[in-house]
Amino acid sequence: MRSNFLALGVVALAATAIYAQQPDHPSVTVRGQVYTPRSILARNMGTEQDQTTQFPPHKIIGNIYYVGTKTLSSFLIVTPQGNILLDSTYERNVPVIQKSVADLGFKFADIKILLGNHAHGDHQEGDALVKQLTGAQVIAMAEDVPPLQNIKPGGKEHPIDKVIHDGDTVTLGGTTLVAHLTAGHTPGCTTWTMTAQEGGKSYNVVFHCSLRAQGNLTPALVDQFNRSFKVVRAMPCDVPLGDHPAQYRMLEKHPMLRPGGPNPFIDAANCNLETDIMETMFRAALDEQQQANKTP
Ligand SMILES: [Zn+2]
Repeated sequence: MRSNFLALGVVALAATAIYAQQPDHPSVTVRGQVYTPRSILARNMGTEQDQTTQFPPHKIIGNIYYVGTKTLSSFLIVTPQGNILLDSTYERNVPVIQKSVADLGFKFADIKILLGNHAHGDHQEGDALVKQLTGAQVIAMAEDVPPLQNIKPGGKEHPIDKVIHDGDTVTLGGTTLVAHLTAGHTPGCTTWTMTAQEGGKSYNVVFHCSLRAQGNLTPALVDQFNRSFKVVRAMPCDVPLGDHPAQYRMLEKHPMLRPGGPNPFIDAANCNLETDIMETMFRAALDEQQQANKTP
């Protein structure tokens, strides 16, 4: 009996040691806040429930609305000739997005174009179902086509109706979005930009694509990230948005929405905050990797 307890204790200790060895470094500090790879992932994804729970749908600015979950962004861009959906998220979330669109008083069937941020399941797994429900044209950045084709929920082929390239535009009902290739997180990670009108003024809106580096940083990946950081920093920006709400602090901003009050999503001062965090983390990870490679 006693030896069994001892054996159990050893197993538990071994498990703890393995868990502790899971790398959660480097740790970086940006504007007084400490980040690690694990804390960034936790912040982005939340709990499994957060990923599928409807966040109150709301107008962000002009003709742009939030229709995603607590931790996975989905944006609806409304035009007189039909609507554009950016990011379907997980397939199981499509009914949640459908409900958010309806709660705002729009029709899901009016979605004419489906865009994506990047070829990961948490952002584009639902594309086939959205296409099935709306008949929307699905547009994809060329470099993300191969990874998109690997996203096949329930064996469904990933729909791609039109392939675009860096700098291409998508126009519907007087709204034009520009696709900027900001590769690194995925090969075709796309930052979308547009202007939105509010109170007689025009604002530059940036739908950032994740700049989170992961795994081994090959020279090709390092080049991609270096280019992407530069591209993103050069963008005119008044309204920073992201593929996860935490990237633009939606939970802090949303309660500040007041009829007639200043729009909390207009936040030019923080346009580069997420890029600062991701680039600082990237440089620290690269340093660590180079140090590790030097050690014989
Ligand atoms: Zn991703």
